[in-house]
Amino acid sequence: MIPLFEHYPELGDKLPYVSLGQFPTPVSKLERLGASIGVDGLYLKRDDLSGQLYGGNKVRKLEFLLGEALRDGSKAVMTFGGAGSNHALATAVYARQVGLGCISMLTPQPNARYVRHNLLMGYSQGAELHYYRNKRSLFIGTFCQRLWHTLKSGRPPQIIPVGGSSPLGTTGFVNAALELKSQISAGELPEPDKIYLPMGSMGTAVGLTLGLAVCGLKSKIVPVVVSKKQESPAKRFAELFEATNSLLCAHDPSFPRVRLAERDVEIRQEFIGPGYAIFTPEAVEAIGRMRQDEGIELDGTYSHKALAALLHDIGHRQEGEVSLFWDTYNSKDISSIIAEVDYRALPKAFHGYFEEEVQPLDRTLATLRRKLCKTTL
Ligand SMILES: *Cc1c(COP(=O)(O)O)cnc(C)c1O
Repeated sequence: MIPLFEHYPELGDKLPYVSLGQFPTPVSKLERLGASIGVDGLYLKRDDLSGQLYGGNKVRKLEFLLGEALRDGSKAVMTFGGAGSNHALATAVYARQVGLGCISMLTPQPNARYVRHNLLMGYSQGAELHYYRNKRSLFIGTFCQRLWHTLKSGRPPQIIPVGGSSPLGTTGFVNAALELKSQISAGELPEPDKIYLPMGSMGTAVGLTLGLAVCGLKSKIVPVVVSKKQESPAKRFAELFEATNSLLCAHDPSFPRVRLAERDVEIRQEFIGPGYAIFTPEAVEAIGRMRQDEGIELDGTYSHKALAALLHDIGHRQEGEVSLFWDTYNSKDISSIIAEVDYRALPKAFHGYFEEEVQPLDRTLATLRRKLCKTTL
């Protein structure tokens, strides 16, 4: 049973849930990276290993969101994201695993190799891929596709919001904090002073913040914004926090009410660079470091920007400080699956991602990787 339901059995009775991933995800100490930058006390939470076929942070959210779709008797789910969205891909993979269709409503983003990989993988999982070049066409397309699927199957597809960050999806990370607490109690790692993680649609960081409060951990959450700079990210953060807390209290009156104001959250916006999914030099360096020291692959859109923040802060940390980096990116190798797919089988609107160059820093990354492979061989 998942830790949240062990602690709050009423939530177990009332919340929709389907087991999809492999939990708890391991924690490890970043010995070599720590040694190479001269610090001790760096740990990694390996949500990159959260699933058999495809890992990353979306699996925890989907256990609740797809649980809801199954409970409600939906035939398919519909979700949204950039062309290379990890969330849209994770939804496609796990919807298929539980026998649901997946309709992915995708929008333009900067090109990178992972965009190609995710598109091919999504296609191989049977997701219906649609492409909309602007908000207006997305809006109309969503209406039409919903109508079409409702007529076809007799039921509207269940809508899963961007990044899976509804209060229900966010609950997956309330549970993740309780999971971390039991790993700390078991002595797998000391209580972290700070937890670094990338932040997009916020469910991951918000859920963790609520969960940490509920289980009495004092760790400070450091969410590193990866999408465009926001006017008041703290306001959106607080709204999702409040909505998730209310959802859990409504289903189980014994679930605590938490005041966000009493929690230490440090939202960081200075590592975004030029924008969402545009790689930055600091980030490329961070990826290279993690790869070389620990053999772990980070991605260019999310996790590397959070690691860049952690590395930046190293010089300012207190003696003996413990930092945990929450790895949110899938590390399961999908290359053999996507090797089977020819991009020309995808809707024509996506071909540009395969026929046009990827962004320059992604090419740098590919070159670095080839060099590293040669030296380790
Ligand atoms: C979606 C995603 C995130 C952001 O998580 P949110 O809950 O949307 O803030 C971080 N890292 C990776 C690799 C992701 O795919």
